[in-house]
Amino acid sequence: MISKAKTVGFQSGERNIFFHILTACNLSCRHCYINKAQHGTETLPRETMEKWLELFADPTKKSNVIFLGGEPTMHPDLVHGITKAKELGYDVTVDSNGYLFHDLLEKSSPEQLDYLSFSLDGPDAEVNDPIRGEGVYEICTGNMRKAVAAGYNVSVIYTVSNLNIKHLHRMIPLLTEIGVKRFFIQVIGLRGNSATENEDGLNWQVSQEDWLSVVPAVAVQAAEAGIHVTFPKVFLEEGETFECAGVVAENFFIFPNGRVYRCPLCEDHPVHALNIENGKLVPNQGLTEDNFFQLNIAEGCVMNKLLQPDTIAYDADGKPEHRISCCLLKQEIIPESI
Ligand code: SF4
Ligand code: SF4
Repeated sequence: MISKAKTVGFQSGERNIFFHILTACNLSCRHCYINKAQHGTETLPRETMEKWLELFADPTKKSNVIFLGGEPTMHPDLVHGITKAKELGYDVTVDSNGYLFHDLLEKSSPEQLDYLSFSLDGPDAEVNDPIRGEGVYEICTGNMRKAVAAGYNVSVIYTVSNLNIKHLHRMIPLLTEIGVKRFFIQVIGLRGNSATENEDGLNWQVSQEDWLSVVPAVAVQAAEAGIHVTFPKVFLEEGETFECAGVVAENFFIFPNGRVYRCPLCEDHPVHALNIENGKLVPNQGLTEDNFFQLNIAEGCVMNKLLQPDTIAYDADGKPEHRISCCLLKQEIIPESI
């Protein structure tokens, strides 16, 4: 019987490259976090994609690259990028909205692509499509089935908000039936469109109470159904250690305009720690996210306190009821059958 999630501490000797190779997308999801004013509108040329993959390759470390967009499969040279990344020793994942442009399944292979991840925000079209767009559920699940049939390792990313939290448990029979191996549950952030849209007084962000009463239990059920589940820690318990990934881990969030962030919460602001200039990685000057990572506060994550202060509850003495963990700190449950 599975009952407990394990917190996955930050691994030294491991680096994760979140590589946005373009910002264009065929969809307009209501919670989209892409911010073209900050991230640019460029589609990275093939040679630049190659050079930047080389720039972040480190054969002494386990390195993961996640190709992102916009919609990465809209990039005509994605398969070339996957091949190059594999040659450089990366584990490779593509995060797609499910449309799989440019015949990705036929042109790549399960040997090259370690995981193909699909974003789906509901167990049926009635829940998913009002968030991600008319007809998206049908296409996304259809291509998930094709990918599983072609032998790819398929994972699903579900972004939990007040619009879909009560349907999360219904994902389990769907994922089982399709043959999905990994389930990533994410929490909606107050960035991009999600920060401003508030129809009929609806707050997109889930409360601590709703998150804790729903997500860990569904994660256990999914693991019992044989699916490897990963979900954010969010609230630290008494006695748990706070760590900022910007200090203790190697994560790079790369955008087509050459900005490189260490923290995803900073991406809407020009505080990126690094820039790629003339093929070299150079520190950004002035006040950057690096300065924030060093601050030690009772609330835990500094950027969360600055950008989403309403996520923090205080007791009568003004002490935070919970510290907020780094948004990159995950919990996972690996089914016993794996
Ligand atoms: S698929 Fe991704 S990039 Fe495209 S609109 Fe939706 S959230 Fe934004
Ligand atoms: S989310 Fe918070 S704790 Fe994590 S890297 Fe960013 S600032 Fe640091």
